[in-house]
Amino acid sequence: MSELKLCQGTRCHTYNTKDRLKGVKGSKTFQTRRRSSMYYGSGNFCSWNCLNDWFNDFGDRAIDHFGRLTEPKHLNENNAWQKTYDWDSNYENRFYVYRNGITKEERPLTRQQYDDNNYTLNER
Ligand SMILES: [Zn+2]
Repeated sequence: MSELKLCQGTRCHTYNTKDRLKGVKGSKTFQTRRRSSMYYGSGNFCSWNCLNDWFNDFGDRAIDHFGRLTEPKHLNENNAWQKTYDWDSNYENRFYVYRNGITKEERPLTRQQYDDNNYTLNER
């Protein structure tokens, strides 16, 4: 049996849905949702609403804690490579390429290189 996780939404329990209403007659409460898996915010929130509630309450503090950007980030010729493929093709005949967003140069990629999250032409 998989472990149930609680939604981290700060107001999850205030949304009056049937699935949040728990307990026996006379002592029912609306409760934070528990689920084996959730699809928002890296699996921490039951809904986009709950993720947004959390961000509205804590987002500024989280950004300040982990480092607020103070200058724009840049892609240059050395790190503007992006994996792509010909979108019209069907899956079996797909032609994968690395395309440099600045120089527009394209280099062929194998399917394995396309799927490999560690394979890159970009400087790190
Ligand atoms: Zn929630």
